[in-house]
Amino acid sequence: MMNLKQEILKEEKIYGSLFTSDCHKVGIIGGCGLECWIYQEGNCEYHKEQLDILKTESDITNHNILYNGD
Ligand SMILES: [Zn+2]
Repeated sequence: MMNLKQEILKEEKIYGSLFTSDCHKVGIIGGCGLECWIYQEGNCEYHKEQLDILKTESDITNHNILYNGD
């Protein structure tokens, strides 16, 4: 399976760099969420929306560390 990052690079090759931010790119591919590397690096623009999908204790702990409990 191709990972998300490779998928995006492929799309950019085809369509050019038409996306505004990494988060936006991932959103277009449909991958914004807890698995997203941008989220995992603490750079997700939409991290507040991820609050709804936090399920496990470790998801929540991780989120609080990445986004200072925001
Ligand atoms: Zn995101």
